[in-house]
Amino acid sequence: MNDNNEHICIRCGSPTKISNITVRQSANPLYPITVTQYRCINETCQKDTDDKQAELLKQRLEREEKSKKNHLSKKVEVSA
Ligand SMILES: [Zn+2]
Repeated sequence: MNDNNEHICIRCGSPTKISNITVRQSANPLYPITVTQYRCINETCQKDTDDKQAELLKQRLEREEKSKKNHLSKKVEVSA
């Protein structure tokens, strides 16, 4: 059990630092999901990762918003 050992960036091999720890609800409320985010100390690599994650997050939120709206009112048409 060496989970707390330093993590190595899988992209460039640089050491990483913990940047954020988020607890999310999972399907089972008794077992929330803990998400630990690591930042690569290589700024170029980290920026690339940030950009991709931001894009993925944006897409996910947009999908969630759409499905929420669809759920609340099926008459609402979302024009992209
Ligand atoms: Zn990296």
